[in-house]
Amino acid sequence: MVVNLKDLSLEGIEALIAGLGKERYRARQIMRWLYGHGASSLDEMTDLAKELRAELGRIARISSLALLAEEHASDGTRKYLFGLEDGNQVESVLIPDDGRLTLCISTQAGCAMGCRFCLTGRGGFARDLTSGEILDQIVGVIRGLGKDERISNCVLMGMGEPLANYDSVKQALGIMASDLGIGLSRRRITLSTVGLIPQMKRLFAEQVPCRLAISLNATTQKVRSYLMPISRRYPLSALLAACRALPLPPRERITFEYVLIEGINDSEGDAVRLTRILRGIRCKVNLIPLNECPGILFHRPKEKAVLRFQKALLDGGYTTIIRESRGGAISAACGQLRGRIRGS
Ligand code: SAH
Ligand code: SF4
Repeated sequence: MVVNLKDLSLEGIEALIAGLGKERYRARQIMRWLYGHGASSLDEMTDLAKELRAELGRIARISSLALLAEEHASDGTRKYLFGLEDGNQVESVLIPDDGRLTLCISTQAGCAMGCRFCLTGRGGFARDLTSGEILDQIVGVIRGLGKDERISNCVLMGMGEPLANYDSVKQALGIMASDLGIGLSRRRITLSTVGLIPQMKRLFAEQVPCRLAISLNATTQKVRSYLMPISRRYPLSALLAACRALPLPPRERITFEYVLIEGINDSEGDAVRLTRILRGIRCKVNLIPLNECPGILFHRPKEKAVLRFQKALLDGGYTTIIRESRGGAISAACGQLRGRIRGS
Protein backbone atom coordinates (compact mmCIF):
# COMPACT_ATOMS: atom_id res chain seq x y z
CA MET A 1 0.00 0.00 0.00
CA VAL A 2 1.20 3.52 -0.78
CA VAL A 3 1.03 5.87 2.21
CA ASN A 4 0.64 9.64 2.13
CA LEU A 5 3.69 11.10 3.89
CA LYS A 6 1.56 13.94 5.27
CA ASP A 7 -0.61 11.40 7.09
CA LEU A 8 2.44 10.27 9.09
CA SER A 9 4.03 11.71 12.23
CA LEU A 10 7.81 12.12 12.45
CA GLU A 11 7.94 8.72 14.14
CA GLY A 12 5.85 7.26 11.32
CA ILE A 13 8.23 8.57 8.68
CA GLU A 14 11.18 7.33 10.73
CA ALA A 15 9.66 3.85 10.78
CA LEU A 16 9.19 3.99 7.01
CA ILE A 17 12.81 5.01 6.49
CA ALA A 18 14.02 2.34 8.92
CA GLY A 19 12.03 -0.19 6.91
CA LEU A 20 14.12 0.78 3.89
CA GLY A 21 17.29 0.33 5.93
CA LYS A 22 18.24 4.04 5.71
CA GLU A 23 19.36 6.63 8.25
CA ARG A 24 16.75 7.83 10.71
CA TYR A 25 17.60 11.51 10.33
CA ARG A 26 16.33 11.37 6.75
CA ALA A 27 12.84 11.56 8.24
CA ARG A 28 13.60 15.03 9.60
CA GLN A 29 14.80 16.16 6.18
CA ILE A 30 11.58 14.87 4.66
CA MET A 31 9.46 16.71 7.26
CA ARG A 32 11.24 19.97 6.39
CA TRP A 33 10.58 19.44 2.71
CA LEU A 34 6.91 18.67 3.30
CA TYR A 35 6.08 21.59 5.58
CA GLY A 36 8.97 24.07 5.38
CA HIS A 37 9.23 24.06 1.60
CA GLY A 38 5.75 22.80 0.72
CA ALA A 39 7.25 20.11 -1.54
CA SER A 40 4.66 18.40 -3.70
CA SER A 41 6.90 15.63 -5.05
CA LEU A 42 9.74 13.47 -3.80
CA ASP A 43 11.90 14.71 -6.68
CA GLU A 44 12.06 18.13 -5.08
CA MET A 45 13.87 16.62 -2.08
CA THR A 46 17.26 17.15 -3.63
CA ASP A 47 19.28 16.37 -0.51
CA LEU A 48 17.97 12.80 -0.52
CA ALA A 49 19.84 10.37 -2.72
CA LYS A 50 18.10 9.54 -5.98
CA GLU A 51 18.00 5.90 -4.99
CA LEU A 52 16.23 6.68 -1.72
CA ARG A 53 13.72 8.86 -3.53
CA ALA A 54 13.02 6.04 -5.97
CA GLU A 55 12.58 3.48 -3.20
CA LEU A 56 10.34 5.83 -1.24
CA GLY A 57 8.31 6.54 -4.35
CA ARG A 58 7.24 2.90 -4.44
CA ILE A 59 5.70 3.00 -0.96
CA ALA A 60 4.89 6.65 -0.30
CA ARG A 61 3.36 9.67 -1.98
CA ILE A 62 2.68 13.33 -1.16
CA SER A 63 -0.89 14.56 -1.21
CA SER A 64 -2.03 18.06 -2.07
CA LEU A 65 -5.44 19.66 -2.23
CA ALA A 66 -6.92 21.18 -5.37
CA LEU A 67 -7.57 24.89 -4.93
CA LEU A 68 -11.05 25.24 -6.44
CA ALA A 69 -11.75 28.85 -5.53
CA GLU A 70 -10.06 31.74 -3.79
CA GLU A 71 -11.84 34.97 -2.96
CA HIS A 72 -10.62 38.17 -1.38
CA ALA A 73 -12.91 40.47 0.61
CA SER A 74 -12.40 44.19 1.01
CA ASP A 75 -11.56 43.72 4.71
CA GLY A 76 -8.55 41.61 3.70
CA THR A 77 -10.12 38.25 4.50
CA ARG A 78 -9.23 35.52 2.02
CA LYS A 79 -11.35 32.48 1.54
CA TYR A 80 -10.23 29.19 0.01
CA LEU A 81 -12.28 26.27 -1.24
CA PHE A 82 -10.24 23.08 -1.51
CA GLY A 83 -11.16 19.87 -3.31
CA LEU A 84 -10.15 16.60 -1.62
CA GLU A 85 -8.98 13.67 -3.72
CA ASP A 86 -12.38 11.95 -3.43
CA GLY A 87 -14.31 15.01 -4.58
CA ASN A 88 -15.39 16.27 -1.16
CA GLN A 89 -14.76 19.94 -0.46
CA VAL A 90 -13.57 21.92 2.55
CA GLU A 91 -12.98 25.56 3.31
CA SER A 92 -10.25 27.58 4.96
CA VAL A 93 -10.29 31.29 5.77
CA LEU A 94 -7.32 33.60 6.25
CA ILE A 95 -8.00 36.58 8.48
CA PRO A 96 -5.56 39.50 8.85
CA ASP A 97 -6.12 41.33 12.12
CA ASP A 98 -4.00 43.55 14.34
CA GLY A 99 -0.73 42.44 12.77
CA ARG A 100 -1.73 38.80 13.04
CA LEU A 101 -2.55 36.47 10.19
CA THR A 102 -4.94 33.83 11.46
CA LEU A 103 -5.82 30.79 9.39
CA CYS A 104 -9.10 29.02 10.11
CA ILE A 105 -9.12 25.41 8.92
CA SER A 106 -11.58 22.54 8.63
CA THR A 107 -11.30 19.17 10.33
CA GLN A 108 -14.14 17.28 8.68
CA ALA A 109 -15.98 17.40 5.35
CA GLY A 110 -19.36 18.49 6.70
CA CYS A 111 -20.37 17.96 10.32
CA ALA A 112 -22.60 15.48 12.10
CA MET A 113 -23.47 17.72 15.07
CA GLY A 114 -26.45 19.38 13.39
CA CYS A 115 -26.41 22.75 15.16
CA ARG A 116 -29.45 24.66 13.95
CA PHE A 117 -27.75 27.98 13.23
CA CYS A 118 -24.80 26.53 11.29
CA LEU A 119 -24.72 26.03 7.55
CA THR A 120 -22.13 23.25 7.78
CA GLY A 121 -24.34 21.51 10.31
CA ARG A 122 -27.39 21.79 8.06
CA GLY A 123 -25.42 20.25 5.18
CA GLY A 124 -24.75 16.99 7.02
CA PHE A 125 -21.62 14.91 7.40
CA ALA A 126 -19.46 13.45 4.64
CA ARG A 127 -16.32 12.18 6.39
CA ASP A 128 -13.39 12.87 8.70
CA LEU A 129 -10.34 14.53 7.19
CA THR A 130 -7.02 12.72 7.50
CA SER A 131 -4.25 14.55 9.33
CA GLY A 132 -2.63 15.13 5.92
CA GLU A 133 -5.77 16.83 4.65
CA ILE A 134 -5.93 19.04 7.74
CA LEU A 135 -2.27 20.07 7.27
CA ASP A 136 -2.61 20.41 3.49
CA GLN A 137 -4.95 23.36 3.99
CA ILE A 138 -2.13 25.19 5.77
CA VAL A 139 0.47 24.16 3.21
CA GLY A 140 -1.89 25.16 0.37
CA VAL A 141 -2.54 28.60 1.85
CA ILE A 142 1.14 29.23 2.65
CA ARG A 143 1.99 28.45 -0.98
CA GLY A 144 -0.03 31.46 -2.15
CA LEU A 145 1.13 33.96 0.49
CA GLY A 146 3.09 37.09 -0.34
CA LYS A 147 6.82 37.21 0.42
CA ASP A 148 6.45 39.03 3.73
CA GLU A 149 3.38 37.17 4.93
CA ARG A 150 3.50 34.47 7.59
CA ILE A 151 0.64 32.69 9.26
CA SER A 152 0.85 33.64 12.93
CA ASN A 153 -2.15 31.78 14.36
CA CYS A 154 -4.25 28.79 13.45
CA VAL A 155 -7.79 28.09 14.61
CA LEU A 156 -9.72 24.85 14.13
CA MET A 157 -13.02 26.62 13.58
CA GLY A 158 -13.83 25.81 9.98
CA MET A 159 -16.05 22.95 8.91
CA GLY A 160 -16.50 20.04 11.26
CA GLU A 161 -16.18 19.14 14.92
CA PRO A 162 -12.45 18.65 15.65
CA LEU A 163 -12.94 16.43 18.70
CA ALA A 164 -15.16 14.05 16.72
CA ASN A 165 -12.05 13.39 14.59
CA TYR A 166 -9.74 13.14 17.58
CA ASP A 167 -6.82 11.02 16.36
CA SER A 168 -6.24 12.83 13.07
CA VAL A 169 -6.64 16.22 14.72
CA LYS A 170 -4.19 15.29 17.48
CA GLN A 171 -1.60 14.16 14.96
CA ALA A 172 -2.07 17.27 12.80
CA LEU A 173 -1.72 19.53 15.86
CA GLY A 174 1.53 17.79 16.81
CA ILE A 175 2.97 18.64 13.39
CA MET A 176 1.52 22.15 13.46
CA ALA A 177 3.35 22.87 16.70
CA SER A 178 6.60 21.15 15.71
CA ASP A 179 9.59 23.08 14.41
CA LEU A 180 9.96 20.40 11.79
CA GLY A 181 6.35 21.02 10.76
CA ILE A 182 4.50 24.31 10.61
CA GLY A 183 6.30 25.68 13.70
CA LEU A 184 3.44 27.50 15.43
CA SER A 185 3.68 27.81 19.19
CA ARG A 186 1.01 26.01 21.21
CA ARG A 187 -0.44 29.27 22.40
CA ARG A 188 -1.17 30.29 18.83
CA ILE A 189 -3.30 27.28 18.02
CA THR A 190 -6.95 27.17 19.13
CA LEU A 191 -9.30 24.25 18.86
CA SER A 192 -13.02 25.01 18.99
CA THR A 193 -15.48 22.34 20.10
CA VAL A 194 -19.18 21.92 20.79
CA GLY A 195 -18.13 20.32 24.06
CA LEU A 196 -17.42 16.60 23.66
CA ILE A 197 -16.49 16.08 27.30
CA PRO A 198 -14.45 12.84 27.17
CA GLN A 199 -12.31 14.12 24.29
CA MET A 200 -11.83 17.47 26.02
CA LYS A 201 -10.37 15.64 29.01
CA ARG A 202 -8.14 13.54 26.76
CA LEU A 203 -6.84 16.65 25.05
CA PHE A 204 -5.46 17.93 28.35
CA ALA A 205 -4.35 14.54 29.67
CA GLU A 206 -2.38 13.93 26.47
CA GLN A 207 -1.09 17.51 26.37
CA VAL A 208 -2.14 18.06 22.79
CA PRO A 209 -0.64 21.42 21.78
CA CYS A 210 -3.58 23.80 21.52
CA ARG A 211 -5.77 26.14 23.50
CA LEU A 212 -9.41 25.37 23.99
CA ALA A 213 -12.48 27.26 22.81
CA ILE A 214 -15.97 26.01 23.57
CA SER A 215 -19.07 26.95 21.60
CA LEU A 216 -21.54 27.60 24.39
CA ASN A 217 -24.26 29.56 22.61
CA ALA A 218 -26.89 29.31 25.36
CA THR A 219 -27.31 29.72 29.10
CA THR A 220 -29.97 27.09 29.76
CA GLN A 221 -30.06 23.41 28.96
CA LYS A 222 -33.39 23.90 27.20
CA VAL A 223 -32.17 26.49 24.72
CA ARG A 224 -28.80 24.84 24.27
CA SER A 225 -30.24 21.46 23.41
CA TYR A 226 -32.66 23.15 21.00
CA LEU A 227 -29.79 24.90 19.20
CA MET A 228 -27.19 22.17 19.62
CA PRO A 229 -28.46 18.57 19.74
CA ILE A 230 -25.15 17.41 21.28
CA SER A 231 -26.26 19.09 24.51
CA ARG A 232 -28.71 16.24 25.06
CA ARG A 233 -25.76 13.86 25.30
CA TYR A 234 -23.46 16.23 27.20
CA PRO A 235 -25.71 18.55 29.19
CA LEU A 236 -24.74 22.13 29.93
CA SER A 237 -24.25 21.45 33.64
CA ALA A 238 -21.87 18.54 32.93
CA LEU A 239 -19.98 20.63 30.39
CA LEU A 240 -19.47 23.47 32.85
CA ALA A 241 -18.41 21.04 35.58
CA ALA A 242 -15.89 19.48 33.19
CA CYS A 243 -14.52 22.94 32.36
CA ARG A 244 -14.05 23.70 36.06
CA ALA A 245 -12.02 20.53 36.46
CA LEU A 246 -9.74 20.91 33.43
CA PRO A 247 -6.06 21.26 34.36
CA LEU A 248 -5.51 24.59 32.57
CA PRO A 249 -1.89 25.73 32.33
CA PRO A 250 -1.08 28.76 34.52
CA ARG A 251 -2.48 32.06 33.22
CA GLU A 252 -4.37 30.30 30.46
CA ARG A 253 -8.08 30.79 29.93
CA ILE A 254 -10.78 28.88 28.13
CA THR A 255 -12.54 30.90 25.44
CA PHE A 256 -16.31 30.57 25.40
CA GLU A 257 -17.86 31.38 22.05
CA TYR A 258 -21.41 32.61 22.09
CA VAL A 259 -23.27 33.10 18.81
CA LEU A 260 -25.89 35.77 19.46
CA ILE A 261 -29.27 34.97 17.89
CA GLU A 262 -32.13 37.42 18.03
CA GLY A 263 -34.91 36.46 20.41
CA ILE A 264 -33.29 33.10 21.24
CA ASN A 265 -30.26 33.72 23.45
CA ASP A 266 -29.60 37.47 23.38
CA SER A 267 -31.68 38.86 26.27
CA GLU A 268 -30.27 40.74 29.22
CA GLY A 269 -31.41 37.84 31.40
CA ASP A 270 -29.23 35.52 29.31
CA ALA A 271 -26.24 37.81 29.74
CA VAL A 272 -26.66 37.91 33.52
CA ARG A 273 -27.18 34.14 33.66
CA LEU A 274 -24.02 33.69 31.60
CA THR A 275 -22.00 35.65 34.14
CA ARG A 276 -23.41 33.35 36.84
CA ILE A 277 -22.83 29.99 35.14
CA LEU A 278 -19.25 30.86 34.16
CA ARG A 279 -18.31 31.89 37.69
CA GLY A 280 -15.18 30.10 38.87
CA ILE A 281 -14.01 29.13 35.39
CA ARG A 282 -10.88 30.92 34.20
CA CYS A 283 -12.24 32.16 30.89
CA LYS A 284 -13.02 34.90 28.42
CA VAL A 285 -16.00 35.30 26.14
CA ASN A 286 -16.20 35.85 22.39
CA LEU A 287 -19.59 37.10 21.25
CA ILE A 288 -20.35 36.32 17.61
CA PRO A 289 -23.44 38.04 16.18
CA LEU A 290 -25.12 35.40 13.99
CA ASN A 291 -24.04 35.37 10.39
CA GLU A 292 -27.35 35.20 8.56
CA CYS A 293 -27.50 32.94 5.55
CA PRO A 294 -30.09 31.31 3.33
CA GLY A 295 -31.50 28.16 4.86
CA ILE A 296 -30.92 29.36 8.43
CA LEU A 297 -34.13 30.56 10.08
CA PHE A 298 -32.57 32.81 12.69
CA HIS A 299 -31.63 36.48 12.72
CA ARG A 300 -28.71 38.50 13.95
CA PRO A 301 -29.62 40.79 16.87
CA LYS A 302 -29.57 44.57 16.44
CA GLU A 303 -26.29 46.18 17.35
CA LYS A 304 -27.83 47.71 20.47
CA ALA A 305 -28.70 44.28 21.82
CA VAL A 306 -25.19 42.99 21.09
CA LEU A 307 -23.60 45.91 22.95
CA ARG A 308 -26.01 45.51 25.86
CA PHE A 309 -25.08 41.84 26.13
CA GLN A 310 -21.39 42.67 26.04
CA LYS A 311 -21.78 45.34 28.72
CA ALA A 312 -23.48 42.95 31.12
CA LEU A 313 -20.58 40.54 30.76
CA LEU A 314 -17.98 43.27 31.15
CA ASP A 315 -19.81 44.49 34.26
CA GLY A 316 -19.71 40.92 35.54
CA GLY A 317 -15.92 41.00 35.27
CA TYR A 318 -15.40 38.96 32.10
CA THR A 319 -13.08 39.87 29.25
CA THR A 320 -15.57 39.97 26.40
CA ILE A 321 -14.99 40.79 22.77
CA ILE A 322 -17.42 40.98 19.89
CA ARG A 323 -16.06 38.93 17.04
CA GLU A 324 -17.54 39.77 13.70
CA SER A 325 -17.71 36.93 11.23
CA ARG A 326 -15.20 38.37 8.81
CA GLY A 327 -15.39 38.56 5.05
CA GLY A 328 -19.15 38.90 4.98
CA ALA A 329 -19.21 39.92 1.32
CA ILE A 330 -17.49 36.72 0.26
CA SER A 331 -19.64 34.61 2.58
CA ALA A 332 -16.65 33.60 4.64
CA ALA A 333 -18.46 32.13 7.60
CA CYS A 334 -18.37 28.44 8.26
CA GLY A 335 -19.75 26.43 5.35
CA GLN A 336 -20.88 29.36 3.29
CA LEU A 337 -18.56 29.35 0.29
CA ARG A 338 -19.16 25.70 -0.35
CA GLY A 339 -22.89 26.27 -0.12
CA ARG A 340 -22.79 29.07 -2.62
CA ILE A 341 -20.60 27.35 -5.17
CA ARG A 342 -22.72 24.24 -5.02
CA GLY A 343 -25.86 26.29 -5.40
CA SER A 344 -24.66 28.23 -8.44
N1 SAH B 1 -17.47 22.49 15.41
C1 SAH B 1 -16.70 23.40 16.16
C2 SAH B 1 -15.82 24.29 15.31
C3 SAH B 1 -16.39 24.78 14.02
S1 SAH B 1 -17.74 25.91 14.16
C4 SAH B 1 -17.61 24.25 17.05
O1 SAH B 1 -18.82 24.22 16.86
O2 SAH B 1 -17.08 24.91 17.94
C5 SAH B 1 -16.87 27.39 14.59
C6 SAH B 1 -17.73 28.46 15.23
O3 SAH B 1 -18.64 29.01 14.27
C7 SAH B 1 -18.56 27.96 16.39
O4 SAH B 1 -18.34 28.76 17.53
C8 SAH B 1 -19.98 28.12 15.90
O5 SAH B 1 -20.85 28.36 16.97
C9 SAH B 1 -19.86 29.29 14.92
N2 SAH B 1 -20.93 29.41 13.94
C10 SAH B 1 -21.54 28.41 13.26
N3 SAH B 1 -22.51 28.92 12.46
C11 SAH B 1 -22.50 30.27 12.63
C12 SAH B 1 -23.26 31.34 12.07
N4 SAH B 1 -24.24 31.12 11.17
N5 SAH B 1 -22.98 32.59 12.48
C13 SAH B 1 -21.99 32.83 13.38
N6 SAH B 1 -21.25 31.85 13.93
C14 SAH B 1 -21.50 30.58 13.56
FE1 SF4 C 1 -20.66 21.34 13.52
FE2 SF4 C 1 -19.57 23.43 14.82
FE3 SF4 C 1 -21.41 23.79 12.89
FE4 SF4 C 1 -22.16 22.74 15.21
S1 SF4 C 1 -21.34 24.82 14.89
S2 SF4 C 1 -22.75 22.00 13.19
S3 SF4 C 1 -20.39 21.53 15.70
S4 SF4 C 1 -19.38 22.93 12.62
